[in-house]
This record gives sequence, structure tokens and C-alpha cells, in this order.
Amino acid sequence: MSDFEERRPRVRFAPSPTGYFHVGSARTALYNWLFARGTGGTFILRIEDTDIERNREEWTTGIVAALEWLDMVPDEGPYHQSERSERYAEAIDALWDAGVLYACDCTRGELEARTKDDPTPGYDGFCRERELGRAEGALRLRVPDEGTTTVTDIVRGEVAFPNVSIEDFVVVKSTGAPLFVLANIVDDIDMGITHVIRGEDLLPSTPKGLLLWDELVRTGFGPDDSRVALMPAFAHLPMLVNERRQKLSKRRDPVAVESYREEGYVPGAMRNYLALLGWSHPEGREILSVEEMVDAFRLEAVNHAPAFFDVDKLRWMNGEYLRAMTLDEFVTASRPWISAPHAPWPAERFDEGVFRHVGPLVQDRVTLLREVPGMVDFLFLEEPEVDVQSWAAVAADEATPAILDAAFAAYRECAWEEGVLHAVTRELGESAGRKLNRAQAPIRVAVTGRRVGPPLFESMALLGREVVLERIAAARGRLGPPHAS
Ligand code: GLU
Repeated sequence: MSDFEERRPRVRFAPSPTGYFHVGSARTALYNWLFARGTGGTFILRIEDTDIERNREEWTTGIVAALEWLDMVPDEGPYHQSERSERYAEAIDALWDAGVLYACDCTRGELEARTKDDPTPGYDGFCRERELGRAEGALRLRVPDEGTTTVTDIVRGEVAFPNVSIEDFVVVKSTGAPLFVLANIVDDIDMGITHVIRGEDLLPSTPKGLLLWDELVRTGFGPDDSRVALMPAFAHLPMLVNERRQKLSKRRDPVAVESYREEGYVPGAMRNYLALLGWSHPEGREILSVEEMVDAFRLEAVNHAPAFFDVDKLRWMNGEYLRAMTLDEFVTASRPWISAPHAPWPAERFDEGVFRHVGPLVQDRVTLLREVPGMVDFLFLEEPEVDVQSWAAVAADEATPAILDAAFAAYRECAWEEGVLHAVTRELGESAGRKLNRAQAPIRVAVTGRRVGPPLFESMALLGREVVLERIAAARGRLGPPHAS
């Protein structure tokens, strides 16, 4: 095998489990996944957990769960760097034996004192020729003083880093633990990675990785003798920014994929929206099935300008996805919100048949699954939860008592079906000098507790005469005697 074209692509998503799963990481995972699916390649999950102090097992669990939720299950892995220290030790031995590393015992204070007036930041090479023993300090790579290290990036073209601008960077801590850059490169070699697709924040450390790669390969380090380690291609993906063009930050912006899930975004919408953060369909289409995304996605078409993470647009897209669902899909997606412990009604009062009946009406009216219970709770609670503002508006209207009285009288007598309820309400509204909409408002608040919700007459038909009359009487009771006319 001689070049990329002949190798089946192998890509990895390599998060460090140091916090909630960030939407930017999800976008990176998705681009890796799309690329693998579109090229017949392999999508690998690698947990970069060498930094024991900052890593927690639960973050790893969260990453695995989020990938599963987004239906981007890895073909291989998760591999854990914490389980691969022997391999890193072999790489360190190889580099040390080749003489490309040197030990350094400079403290930060000493370095600062020496370099405070230097025009070039970073390490000054003080220990380069001191020939300290391997155990006497951290190990740094001897970076050539001349030449240029060029990253050939599918998204950004050629990015050249003059070697003088790259310090002799630390590869191994004084404790013997490898640094990120080493573990990352060793793994990419061992795992036969062909394309490194990751966030742009890692571009500045890429030349260091390339230098290490060259040195490692020169020492003969590789997965095994028959497989030559080939340098992967790189694609650094644009940053995600908020509406003020600031980099999305954990503190300022809602960035955790988990929180979107909890708010009732559906995975299809999330994945579709993430796909558009740095890439667009050649025909400019936005709502795309997975197959369409896989077919059309090209790394070459990824944009390098920062991508605006627009929560309003994501929300809009979520509504579109909800409306496009079949009733069964919608009921399944709503399940966590309409079951214990989240549902606001006692489980025994829930009636799935009734929910299915109003399901399509609810689907049309919500953008987040979180909103579902509030749309239907009046059907399953003994008494509707009265929204304070809705009640205040209705109570302030002097026609309300008369409308409720008329409704009570009419509904007691009429046939109990949607069309009749509609006609009867129109008539009683007209007698009160009100168009149907305004006549409906007090009745709706009395029966459902809110001014907005699924269509009133269908809901009343479902609730039954007795419940509707009780609720109208209760609301009427709260208003006091009729206004004198
Ligand atoms: N572990 C690195 C991070 O989470 C990513 C490394 C990579 O993709 O090469 O920032």
C-alpha cells in the first residue's frame, strides 16, 4: 500500500473527557462519522484520558451515550490512552535512543528570568547541550533551527510554520508521563489513521505532531514491520461562535449536548443542524436525511470561516423534525416526557389513546419535546394547571362571566361532538357580541388552564361533558357574581 487513495480511510474522534460533551466536539465527531460513512471507512473512538487530574469516568460515559443518541456509534473503540502507556514508553525509548530528546530541569521561574526580553516566546534551548541524564528532568524534542514545517490541510490549504517559531517542546513530563502530543501521534500511527479531522484549536500544535511523527518513523517505530506509517491528511474544522462572534464557551453559552437532549431536541435535528456548521449542501438545502448528508458531504467543501451556532435555527429545525414524524415516531420520542418521573400527571390518569388522538395537533404546535406535557396536561390532570397570565387576561375581561354562564348552559344540553360544540360556541359568542376566537378564550382557560394549546373543541370532545362542565363551573365560581348589564 503506497498512498492514501489505496488505503481504506480510518478516522478517529479523540475527545479528552474533561467535561460535558460540547456541541463543537459533537460536530467534530459528526464530520469524522460522515466522512467514514461516505468513503467506506472506519470510524474510531479514542478517549484521550492521559491527564488523570482532569479526566473523569462519567465524562467518558457521557461521550459514549451522546454518540449513541446521535446514532454515530463507532466501528472501533473506545480505546483508552490510559491503557496504552506501555506503547508510549516504547516510543519514548525509541526517541531517546535516537538522540532527538534531551532532558531539561529548568523551572518555569528560571526560564522566565532568562527569556523575559526575548522576542521569541517559548523555551530557549538552555539544556540542549547539557547532556543531563534521562531521569533528570522533563524530555524535550530537539526542534531543528532551520527549515519549515508545513501542515497540508484539506480545509485551510498549506499552513507553514517556520521551525524557529517552534520551541523545543516537552514530550515527556519529569514524572515520565507522556504529553498529549506524543500519545496522540503514537496512537495515530498505531491505529493507521489516514485522516485527522478535528477542531481548528489544534492547528497550532500540529507542526509539533508532524515533527514527532517524522522522528518516530525515522527510528523505525510503527505498528509492525510490514506496515509503513503514512502521515495522515489533516482537516481542521472551523470554530463555533455565538451571536457576538465569540468562541462558544462553557461558561457563557449552552454548549452541552446533554442539555439539548434534556430540553427535548431530537437527535435527527441536532445532527442535521451540526452538519451545517462549517459545511453546506451543494444545492443549499438545509433539511437533509442522513443518507443525503453522507452522499453529499466532502471534506474539501468544509468552510474555514467560524460557524455561528444559532440556537434559534436549531430550534426551528427541531420543530420541522417533529412535524415530519409519523404519529408512532412522535409518541416514541415523547415517551420520556409523558411518563414518570417527568410527566406532571399521575401515571394512572394517563391514557395513551387520548394522547395519540391529540398527538398530531401537538406535533404541529411544539418545537421542543419538553413542551409536550404542557400542551396535554389538562387532559390527564384532575384539575387543569391554571397559567397565571392567561387567567389574569380572562378575568380582566368583563364579558367573561356571561360567556362562561352561557357556555355552561349550552354545553349541558347540546350533543357532545366537536362540530356541535364549535357551532354552539360560535352562537353564544355572537350573542355576547364576540367573534369565535374571543369567545373561546375564557372557555379555553377554564377548561385547559391556558390560552394556547391544541384545538379547543376536539379537546373538549375528548374530555367529556362532565369534566368540561365542572371546570367551567369552577372557573366561573372564582370570578364572583355576574356583572350588571
Ligand atoms: N484530545 C484532543 C482534544 O480533545 C483532540 C485530539 C485530536 O483530535 O487530535 O482536544
